[in-house]
Amino acid sequence: MVVLRQGDYVWMDSSTGVPIGAEVRISSGQIQLVDDEGKEHKVKKQDSSLKHMHASSINGVDDMIRLGDLNEAGLLRNLLIRHREGTIYTYTGSILVAVNPYQLLPIYSPEQIQLYTNRRLGELPPHVFAIADSCFFNMRRSRQDQCCIISGESGAGKTESTKLMLQFLAAVSGQQSWIEQQVLEANPILEAFGNAKTIRNDNSSRFGKYIDIHFSKGGAIEGARIEQYLLEKSRVCRQAQEERNYHIFYYMLMGMQAEQKKMLSLSNAVKYNYLNMGKCTSCEGRDDIKEYARFRSAMKILTFTQNDSWEIHKLLAAILHLGNMEFEATISNNLEGCDIITSTHSKMAAQLLEVDIKTLDASLTQRSFMTNRESVSKPLSSDQASDGRDAFVKAIYGRLFVWIVEKINSTIFKPRSEESNDTRHSIGLLDIFGFENFKQNSFEQLCINFANEQLQQFFVKHVFKMEQEEYANENIVWKHIAYIDNQGTLDVLASKPLNILSLIDEESHFPKGTDTTLLQKMHKCHEKNRVYIPPKNSHDKTFGIEHFAGPVYYDSKGFLEKNRDALSSDLIVLVETSTNKLLKQIFHSDPINASTNMINSKNSLHQMTDTKKRVPTLCGQFRQSLDSLMKTLTACQPFFIRCIKPNDFKKPMLFDRALCLRQLRYLGMMETIRIRKAGYPIRHTFQQFLDRYRVLLNSVICDPKTESAKACSESICKNVFSAGDDWKIGKTKVFLKDFHDTMLELKRDKA
Ligand code: ATP
Ligand code: MG
Repeated sequence: MVVLRQGDYVWMDSSTGVPIGAEVRISSGQIQLVDDEGKEHKVKKQDSSLKHMHASSINGVDDMIRLGDLNEAGLLRNLLIRHREGTIYTYTGSILVAVNPYQLLPIYSPEQIQLYTNRRLGELPPHVFAIADSCFFNMRRSRQDQCCIISGESGAGKTESTKLMLQFLAAVSGQQSWIEQQVLEANPILEAFGNAKTIRNDNSSRFGKYIDIHFSKGGAIEGARIEQYLLEKSRVCRQAQEERNYHIFYYMLMGMQAEQKKMLSLSNAVKYNYLNMGKCTSCEGRDDIKEYARFRSAMKILTFTQNDSWEIHKLLAAILHLGNMEFEATISNNLEGCDIITSTHSKMAAQLLEVDIKTLDASLTQRSFMTNRESVSKPLSSDQASDGRDAFVKAIYGRLFVWIVEKINSTIFKPRSEESNDTRHSIGLLDIFGFENFKQNSFEQLCINFANEQLQQFFVKHVFKMEQEEYANENIVWKHIAYIDNQGTLDVLASKPLNILSLIDEESHFPKGTDTTLLQKMHKCHEKNRVYIPPKNSHDKTFGIEHFAGPVYYDSKGFLEKNRDALSSDLIVLVETSTNKLLKQIFHSDPINASTNMINSKNSLHQMTDTKKRVPTLCGQFRQSLDSLMKTLTACQPFFIRCIKPNDFKKPMLFDRALCLRQLRYLGMMETIRIRKAGYPIRHTFQQFLDRYRVLLNSVICDPKTESAKACSESICKNVFSAGDDWKIGKTKVFLKDFHDTMLELKRDKA
């Protein structure tokens, strides 16, 4: 039974199912509780459902492992009260939790960068700069590559965090060199082509990226390499209500000089089918004119020539004209077909693509295929023709994007030289699409969610599995901490024989495969597995997957077509007839396109059924690039930033408890805090430890000349840490808490 006094803090039940904090106010004998959301509740003097709050929860803590109320309520309230004060960063050991403030905070100035430079983690209030500084410090201390995995859902702040990390690293690396400038300026270009306004985020990244920043021995930025993943190509042709196409189109139409626009025969965004579908051509708070200028200057810095730039604009304009082309139905020889209606748009599209307008017309309105003897062509209906046109546009934009990233890399990536081989180290920043669960989910969501499963598994492995295995190996007394392992989901998606992704691939290669046959096979193979949720009935085309972040239902319609990512042979031939160098180049330059997928020609059917010559599918390429990403990450020492979106309205000072709780749950924050609180995330072999902290050894007590490295390490710990501090000596290593690491480094600096 709790007795309530004025000013007490208590936990009370709330509608989210997790207790909410409340302050006790007593006036003229009446007891009132004011909860964290400002709501008032009348209570009796004694109320058995209430519990007193632990002192650590009242004003919150910097590091959640110090919370006395180590439960979901405590965690949620800690973030809530900090968010209210504009303190958006909180640690869980060395894992940073960042709550999007949706407002500019005065915490990213050059002075702040200076403040956080070369300080140990935990010395100052939590900050993304502190994580960047730790990456940099660890890279130089341990001579090992570092990576930082930034996760969270759309709008949670991943891209902003990535930019802040990069900004910090550029500042501490010192030189203000040209290459450093180039690495920083790659971003406006990537965002122009790969980001768009969505209902969730005004600057949503519609692709994943990994930026690997390379440093010289002295810690100066020497170069970088950008890896991109799975751009959402469908956006170029379709946008949902209140969403936009990629920024670049609006930038260009607003910012380009009138004269150049005239040469490309361009008008305003509202005039283009591809841009006005979401009924939103401007984005509040985004100045397209200014952004265009920024983009153009970034292009110059990244050594795109005037000509490159003009050629890119030509292709973008061609896309807009293609989108405005219209087809009219025709009947000839009793066959229904269609023709392009001649207009400025069709003429301009042909002119900019540098193809003959008649050939363009024929490639879009007919499809050729091989019979046993000859090539014949079949007319297409207007609907089929516009679908083909959209596929062409998506192929152009997707390949242009890949080409631009490669071109940026050719400027900023400096291959390792013989002598730099051992001395060069890197910090990689991963900013990849978060988990997605919409009303309608399709193939793209499955790929994205698969990527998130892999990253979650990396997190689970690193934070839970490997850590606990090591305690066992080193004979450290340890009570096992249970955690949710998502390996089971990954098995069904990608590891078991006949896993879902391989079934999709199989069926895509199989000429007669349809979405229905795919669903039947999935059902047959995984019916009994709890991860797979079968369609409700035989007409239902939707299947579900139990993901770590909850179940997601996917509509299998269009899966195979999207995975094949094919373009008709007529369009490929059309590109070959073009004199537009950039167009030809983007269709031939990258490995994806060396084997451009073709459909509906007999040759390609052969190709599809012949396993040796299989053309890569979208899913196949994506898996390959993810595998290589996972290899890279595994070779690094990882840091994690968990971004949280506090509300769905892009608003400052609004903390939706239910929304945040859901994110904390699927990010596994509770278990993470538990393991970080109980665990010893810092580990050094005895020799490494002695080498680094020898200055802290009192050689009178323990002489390194006669004593073992183990004995010396233990002696250092006893010397530096207070009695009762929780550190451990294992068989081969010293096991420490994050704050021990900080303490050692500070003492070493002073010694
Ligand atoms: P997506 O998955 O859609 O790309 P994201 O996680 O990358 O989402 P961001 O684009 O980084 O999300 O953030 C969304 C918006 O939130 C930003 O445009 C910015 O307005 C705001 N924001 C995020 N982080 C911060 C911050 N640290 N300070 C101020 N505003 C921020
Ligand atoms: Mg982003």
